[in-house]
Amino acid sequence: MVDKADTDVPELLPVLVDAVLPLLKPYEFSLYLLLLRASEFRGGEIRIGKRTISARLGQGTRASRGNYNHITEKLNVLAEAGFIAVGDTSREGTQYRVLLPEAIPAVREVIATSEPPEQEPDYFTDPVLRAELMERDKWTCRYCGEVVTATTATLDHIIPQSLGGPNTPENLTTACLTCNAIKSGRTYEEAAPEILGALVRRKATTS
Ligand SMILES: [Zn+2]
Repeated sequence: MVDKADTDVPELLPVLVDAVLPLLKPYEFSLYLLLLRASEFRGGEIRIGKRTISARLGQGTRASRGNYNHITEKLNVLAEAGFIAVGDTSREGTQYRVLLPEAIPAVREVIATSEPPEQEPDYFTDPVLRAELMERDKWTCRYCGEVVTATTATLDHIIPQSLGGPNTPENLTTACLTCNAIKSGRTYEEAAPEILGALVRRKATTS
């Protein structure tokens, strides 16, 4: 018997739902859960009779006469799929070795082939993507038209982050430090008077 005393049920749950559930029919899944429960969720050897299984899982849609056969059939499915190994039978029931999901090749295969969730590219934090957007905007501030450089360019959230604006190309625009600082956390409509005021003052001092 493998010592699996450190296996936590909460850690087991996602594997059971994501990788085991798709592999088994509902009754088989219930049966596997029952056996896993009998092994204290640690895998290992247990002895249990079909009478106990029947009593705990109910009779499903089958007539009670065929119920033990149904259980046997489903235990065989689990054994063939590598979820359990069936041992000897005594008066106390049949010995089973219940494997933890991670020890079952078919389950490991599901886990290995399941795609990691697609990560949205983050145009605000990725330096390469940031530069792409500045290139797209021709290194020009959207709000005042000032030409910016790699050191003075910023990216402004058109819909502010505080309002749920995402880090997507559509919601990010090149802005100069001044306009970005003025607009900070607001929409352009809200900040426009100040942005335009600052622009007029700058034009006045440079001409
Ligand atoms: Zn500007």
